Amino acid sequence: MPHVALVPFTGFRIREREMRELGMALPGLRARAGAIAQLPALGLLTLAGLNSPAWTCSYHESDGSDAHPLAEQIISLRPDLVAVSALTASIDEAYAFSRLVQKADVPVVLGGLHATACPEEAAQHVDAVVVGDGESVWADVLADAEYRALKRIYRARKPFDLRESPIPRFDLLGAVDRPRFTLQTQRGCPLACDFCAASRLLGPWREKPATKVAAELEAIGSLAERPIIELADDNTLASRSHPGPLLDALAGSGVRYFTEADWRLGERPDILGRLAGSGCVQVLVGMESLEVSHGGMGPKGAPVSRILEAVEAIQATGVAVIGCFIVGADGETEASLDRLGTFLESAPLADVQLTLQTPFPGTALHRRLERAGRLLGHRGWSYYTLFDVTYQPTSMSVEALELGFRSLVQRVFSAVPAQRRASLRRRIWAKHPSFAPCA
Ligand code: SF4
Repeated sequence: MPHVALVPFTGFRIREREMRELGMALPGLRARAGAIAQLPALGLLTLAGLNSPAWTCSYHESDGSDAHPLAEQIISLRPDLVAVSALTASIDEAYAFSRLVQKADVPVVLGGLHATACPEEAAQHVDAVVVGDGESVWADVLADAEYRALKRIYRARKPFDLRESPIPRFDLLGAVDRPRFTLQTQRGCPLACDFCAASRLLGPWREKPATKVAAELEAIGSLAERPIIELADDNTLASRSHPGPLLDALAGSGVRYFTEADWRLGERPDILGRLAGSGCVQVLVGMESLEVSHGGMGPKGAPVSRILEAVEAIQATGVAVIGCFIVGADGETEASLDRLGTFLESAPLADVQLTLQTPFPGTALHRRLERAGRLLGHRGWSYYTLFDVTYQPTSMSVEALELGFRSLVQRVFSAVPAQRRASLRRRIWAKHPSFAPCA
C-alpha cells in the first residue's frame, strides 16, 4: 500500500536572543507558547481525511530542532510521499528537512500559506507545491505520487467548498495526552486588514455548515473527555447572520473553546446571550493599535472607547477577552509605545497579546514595504516570527523598535499587571456556566 507521511512544522520561533530569553522568563508568554505547541496541525490532518483507503498515513510534528533524526525516522518508513506544512518563520527549516528526505529519493510536497504566497521559491526546494486550498488538489497529488509523476505546482482551481469537508484524522495523533484540539468553522474573513495573510490567501471567506462542525466535535469527543478546542478560524461568527446552529453544535458537544473574533461580537445580543453557554471561554480580539488605523480594517476600525464597551459586554457574559495589539506600524514612536503601556496597565482586558507588525508574504503590507524598499533583506523568513523586526520603521530605528517592544512586553507581562489580569479573569470566569480555566 502506498504511504504518505505528514510533517507539520509547529510552535513558536523567536530569533532575537534578548526577546527569546524575556519570553521564557515571563510565565504568561511561556504558558501561551506551550498551549500553541500542543495544537495539532489541522490542515494536514484534514487532507488525511480525504485519503483514499488505498493509502496509509502517519503524522510527525516537528518543532524544528529534530530535522536529522526525524528525516531518518520517516525515510525508514519508506513512504511514497512526504507532505510538509510550515509557516513563514519555519519555512527554511521545512526546506532543509525536505532536502534530507529527498536525498533518499523520497518526494516532498509542500503546502500552506507561505507556499501559496511564494510558490516559485518553494518549488526550488521541494518536488511539488500546493497553492491554495489543499483539499481541492489532494486527490491529484496522491494519484501522481503513486506513479512518481508529481507536477511542480498544484493550483486549487476554485475555493474548496466547506460543505465537502472531511472529518480530520485526529486518530493519527495517537494515544498521546492531548487535551487541545483545533477545529475550523469558517475560512477567511470578510474584512481585509492589510497585515493579514490568513484572511485572503486561501480564497474568499466561507463558513462550514454547522452539521459538519457537529460531526467534527463528535470525533474529537470520542478521543478526549471535555477537550479544549482552539477554533482555527480567522474571525469566528464574523458574518453569520444566523449564528444559532453553530452555537447549538458547540453547546451540544460540551466542549470548552477559545477563538478569535473581532470586537463587534460584543454588539451582537443574539450571540452574546449564548456565547458562554456554547462553551466559549476566551476570545482573542484584534484591537491592533490605539493610534493607527491599519488599511483594510473596514468597520473593525473604531474609537477605542466603543471597542472597550464591546469588550466589557463580552466579559460580562463570563467570556474573557484577550486584547491583541500590533506594535511598530508607521508612526510608532517611543512615546506611543509608552502610551500603550500606560493604557494596558489599567485596561479592562482579561489578557493581552503583543506582537510586532510583520509583513508576511502575500499581504498588502508586504507589497507596500517592498515597493518602498523598507524590508530588511538581510533578515530572512526565519525572522517573520511576530517577535522580530523585519522592516525599517518610519519614526524609530530598528534597534529602538526592538528595544521599545522588549520594554513594553516586560512592562505588560511583569508580575503586578499579570496578577491584576489573572484576578480579572477569575472574576469573569466566576460568571461562566461551566467555569474551568483553560489558559
Ligand atoms: S479581522 Fe482579523 S482575520 Fe479579518 S482581516 Fe482583519 S486581522 Fe485578518
